[in-house]
Amino acid sequence: MSTSPTPQQQRPPRRAASARASSYDESLVDAELQAYLGNSPSRRIKRLRRLSADERQRETDTEAQIALSLGFPIDELLPAERPLLAAPDADAPNDYIVVRNHILASWRADPRVPLPRARVLETVAASYDHLVAAAHGFLSREGHVNFGVSAAFPAAPPADAPQRPAASVLVVGAGLAGLAAARQLLRFGLRVLVLEGRARPGGRVYTSRLGGDQAAAAVELGGSIITGIHGNPLGVLARQLGIPLHKVRDRCPLYHPDGRTVATRLDRSVDLVFNRLLDHATSLRESLKDAAEKISLGEGIETLRRLYHVLRSEEEREVLDWHLANLEFSNAGCLSELSLAHWDQDDQYEMGGDHCFLAGGNSRLVHALCDGVPVLYEKTVEQIQHGEDGVSVTVEGGQVFQADMALCTVPLGVLKSGSIEFDPKLPENKLGAIQRLGFGLLNKVAMVFPSVFWDEDIDTFGCLNKESSKRGEFFLFYSYHTVSGGAVLVALVAGEAALEFEKVDPVVTLHRVLGILRGIYGPKGVTVPDPIQSVCTRWGSDPLCCGSYSHIRVGSSGTDYDILAESVSDDRLFFAGEATNRAYPATMHGALLSGLREASRILRASESRVNSDHKKYALQKSIRPPDGILEDLFTEPDLEFGRFSFVSSSMTPDDPESEGLLRITLEKHLLLHPEKPVLEGDQKDQKPAAEKKAAQEAFHLYATVSREQANQLQLAGDDDRARLALLCKDLGVKLMGYDFTCDVGNSLVLSILSARKARKRLQRPKNSKVAQ
Ligand SMILES: Cc1cc2nc3c(=O)[nH]c(=O)nc-3n(C[C@H](O)[C@H](O)[C@H](O)COP(=O)(O)OP(=O)(O)OC[C@H]3O[C@@H](n4cnc5c(N)ncnc54)[C@H](O)[C@@H]3O)c2cc1C
Repeated sequence: MSTSPTPQQQRPPRRAASARASSYDESLVDAELQAYLGNSPSRRIKRLRRLSADERQRETDTEAQIALSLGFPIDELLPAERPLLAAPDADAPNDYIVVRNHILASWRADPRVPLPRARVLETVAASYDHLVAAAHGFLSREGHVNFGVSAAFPAAPPADAPQRPAASVLVVGAGLAGLAAARQLLRFGLRVLVLEGRARPGGRVYTSRLGGDQAAAAVELGGSIITGIHGNPLGVLARQLGIPLHKVRDRCPLYHPDGRTVATRLDRSVDLVFNRLLDHATSLRESLKDAAEKISLGEGIETLRRLYHVLRSEEEREVLDWHLANLEFSNAGCLSELSLAHWDQDDQYEMGGDHCFLAGGNSRLVHALCDGVPVLYEKTVEQIQHGEDGVSVTVEGGQVFQADMALCTVPLGVLKSGSIEFDPKLPENKLGAIQRLGFGLLNKVAMVFPSVFWDEDIDTFGCLNKESSKRGEFFLFYSYHTVSGGAVLVALVAGEAALEFEKVDPVVTLHRVLGILRGIYGPKGVTVPDPIQSVCTRWGSDPLCCGSYSHIRVGSSGTDYDILAESVSDDRLFFAGEATNRAYPATMHGALLSGLREASRILRASESRVNSDHKKYALQKSIRPPDGILEDLFTEPDLEFGRFSFVSSSMTPDDPESEGLLRITLEKHLLLHPEKPVLEGDQKDQKPAAEKKAAQEAFHLYATVSREQANQLQLAGDDDRARLALLCKDLGVKLMGYDFTCDVGNSLVLSILSARKARKRLQRPKNSKVAQ
């Protein structure tokens, strides 16, 4: 018999229980102390009052299970936790683990409000204060607790946060990864600007409104299902926003194209065969060892299929093909591409619990993540220069943005396409990982019908295909009528069919889908109407995506996800996105978690830079202003006269009391050498060209003024010098350089940005064209 203790025995009871005498009557002493202390709270009393040893152990076990569902090992530290503990805690980390699990579980119990350290201290005995400090600091910073959306988690540091020198970060991409990172960085007090190529946020999460103004339904054209609600950070966001979730029901009838339902017996038996084939594929890779690295899952399955003669009839083959299409759907890749050795390396991390749809669509999460985050749209990044002095990002049209650090969250497909030039080139191992990992395709045909004609009690149904090469074409239908506000059906196209799909005219495609639906429902006496509106996605041809999501292709492994996540240029350029998350790739939650992970890395990098080289850092901060954001603000000013322009921070820009930013554009020579006589004629040309150019270079000064003051300036005549005098002398306004705008970056500039956004939203026609 083994004498080694079980994990449960190893773990000590949490808090100061071991210090208590067994005959101690807590409630009596509590009352005494309560009387003595009056209303002043004591955490030890609160803590020790209620639980028996058994209850405490049960609670500890439950908390360990919650931590496990969040990806924390029950009896070990994560590698990142090890440096937190000094001896003797580092040698016997069980107390820390219990405290850490307690914090995780406490916040998950109500993630709608932040869990401050003080609150945890109230529930843990004083002897563990240092562990609470270590665990709470770690979990908050790494985005395991106290992250999210809603008023309780604004995109700004808490009022009582310590003042830090604020590093600047450019985030490329406003998908879930980019937005989660940006939001968290703003909470950490860093200066952040997101550059997004599209005219909308969300990236591969895109809820489109279809079906006309009156009956617009929310239709997911990209990521739709929250896969496993236990521990899922998307579930946390939904809870913070009070958005209901709908469990995707398990029943998924399969139909033949002529409308016959696949018999339950056959369905079950082929399901069994399919799962056995996958089990055998696992054994095959174990026996092949290294040789499995060069073989695809498709080849493995085909070999086993022939070996075991598993299918006797044509119908059985079609049902098995349906399962294989389903596998290609979940991996966004043809089986002939997936690595036999590693295709399922992330299975062990799978989130538990139900799969869910979010009522009203996932864009509700995206918009909540965006709130308060400065995003510049239609800024397609073409070049990222990175080096020890910082980063410089050039967007289409030549505009340049500079910052201390950048976070690149563009999809793997974009990295593969080479449409972004990295200068210097990315390291060889990263380029290798980009090339080796797969980025496959999944497409959708989304349709809004006048009414639900299918079985309302199901959320999914499947349809078989006669041809194996077309097994992924419209093989699965999702019904969103429960959550979308309309009669929405979405047909999926996976595997080889997804590639062909993008070459076909959408009218032809729609005709085919309707043919399938009429084939299924016609024989049942149900009339399938034409949809009110439909959309075919083309994620592969979309240059800001170039595919749907990542998978492990033959020749790659989970390590490649880790390599993609590595920062370069001595922690100046970072990477996030679903394809940088080894444990949760190809998912919405994986993308979000990668953003939180990188926010924490960026914070660490900025802190260590401040500590190691404060002078250099401070200098960079002042010489490299984020002028891109200002340039953008002033491309469409609310007022423009002479050398002056004004942008308002108000939703009602004409309101005389509204505040705004005034910019004056001057040439250097006007201020730097005012006393020098103006050169004339030939003399002018004798000036060296470089000096002449420098003197003519424009620069900007800024001031905060009210709309009324801006109006006054505008009406003061045509002479800019007189306006300047009015501004500085009569109105007493002080003009400032870039750094001033950086300082107010978190307030005035941000409110101008969000007022702009809100105004544009109001102006936008409701029935705008659908585009990815
Ligand atoms: C059809 C489909 C169905 C899916 N279904 C599910 C599902 O049911 N459940 C699930 O969990 N996941 C699903 N996913 C996957 C999930 O949507 C993604 O993993 C996740 O949204 C990726 O987020 P991200 O932030 O990593 O990348 P993205 O969302 O792609 O964000 C990257 C951003 O970068 C921008 N960008 C790209 N290039 C540039 C550039 N040069 N300059 C500036 N900006 C640029 C893009 O426009 C984009 O906004 C699905 C995906 C697709 C396509």
